[in-house]
Amino acid sequence: MAEMKNIYDVKFQPAAAENYIMHRAKEKDIKWLKVKIPYPELPPEHRPEVAIRKLDELRKTRKSLQLYLDICVRCGACIKQCHYYLGTGDPKNTPVGRAELLRKVYKRYFTISGRIFGSLVGASDLTNDIIENEWYKYFYQCSECRRCSVFCPYGIDQAEITMAGREILANLGLATKYITEVIAKVYDIGNNLGIPDKAFKSTCEFLIEDVKEMEDIDIEIPVDKEKADILYVPPSADLFTNTDTMIGVAKVMNALGVDWTMSTYASEAANFGLFQSYIDIEWINKRIVDKAKEIDAKLVIIGECGHAWRAARQFMEKMNGPLPFKYCNILEYTADKIRKGKIKLDKSQNDDVIVTLHDPCNMARAGNLISEPRYIIKSCVNDFREMPDNTIKEKTFCCGGGGGLLTEEIMELRMKGGMPRAEAVRSTGANYLAAPCAIDKAQLPLVMSHYKLEVQVGGVHDLVGKAIVMK
Ligand code: SF4
Ligand code: SF4
Repeated sequence: MAEMKNIYDVKFQPAAAENYIMHRAKEKDIKWLKVKIPYPELPPEHRPEVAIRKLDELRKTRKSLQLYLDICVRCGACIKQCHYYLGTGDPKNTPVGRAELLRKVYKRYFTISGRIFGSLVGASDLTNDIIENEWYKYFYQCSECRRCSVFCPYGIDQAEITMAGREILANLGLATKYITEVIAKVYDIGNNLGIPDKAFKSTCEFLIEDVKEMEDIDIEIPVDKEKADILYVPPSADLFTNTDTMIGVAKVMNALGVDWTMSTYASEAANFGLFQSYIDIEWINKRIVDKAKEIDAKLVIIGECGHAWRAARQFMEKMNGPLPFKYCNILEYTADKIRKGKIKLDKSQNDDVIVTLHDPCNMARAGNLISEPRYIIKSCVNDFREMPDNTIKEKTFCCGGGGGLLTEEIMELRMKGGMPRAEAVRSTGANYLAAPCAIDKAQLPLVMSHYKLEVQVGGVHDLVGKAIVMK
């Protein structure tokens, strides 16, 4: 394995990232959302007062937020752990720097020392300039990856602070086009990519024909069965761009001979509510729960997608329970079947690839899925190489496009944020980067090419699909 470049050699460059600004939400999308976002945006002179009221509400209803705003000791242990800081050098892109944008306002209005001593203790009046030029810019330069929290001695979760910042902004009418557009598509059409029911079904038919033609294997990919034991919910991108992942999953189900279906109503495992408002997490997830109940599913399986898994694991039971079914991730499901000898694999089918694994942030840190992808990959390939220890498992680096940032207008920031991951991949000499997440599969090919790495990016089940021995 080659030495990894020193990614921590970075200098403070104030305001280096201030021009990366996401486009504002459109009325046509806002109207679909469950969270109330005023349109047109509130006039600048009214924003500070409304924002302070919302901050007061959030700190009172979310004790963790108030705690995180109170307990930071500015030790600096988190500073060089954020990929956006490592890529840009902008001090407002350090986790502590980003939190300070909210903390200084919290201090001014909700602490005694801040009220009395003001700027002497780091407190600041809230102005529209702070809202527009600090909050709107830098809370949308955090991918809510939570890497910083692993290194913070107090476990301060920056994702919670970012989420609160975004909720306050949405309350002022300041939301992003990309996130609202994606959520609107789920409510309007059924999934993030806006694939209509008919196209969803015909893609499945096409995949069946493709497998028959290429491998002379008959598989089924059932959609909209009235009853089924298993409801499989993929990220919709697996029906569009990551079809080898979908084929791999379908082969597993066919090899096992289980009673499964997908649904055109619950056709999206991903949940962009996580990037803007808790109420939309609940409603997006409810589609899966309602469909699973309707078909009497005993098991819901969530596909390869980090934040989809986080939304299901952390919120499904809490928001839409009690659940009359069990649920798991496809990585757990397949790993279990391999362990029990229910699936046969021929590793030599993947001898053309040297594989390394990117742990999606929301799987490794929030979803506790660390050993399963490794177990599956090692069962499917002969040459698997880990990236350096401080870049994997719970210390994994974000791909640079998570948290609702996977949009064209901030491409330069996305590439800068992807630098630590790219350098870690380079050090392995791998030519296949397994990334079991739809966002990673969209972002990492661009990052690989930006950093001149000839590395194919694909799913874990793409490898399973090639290695599996079908009867
Ligand atoms: S590591 Fe934690 S306590 Fe230290 S500066 Fe960062 S957020 Fe504050
Ligand atoms: S959550 Fe991730 S992107 Fe956000 S400040 Fe922490 S390390 Fe940076």
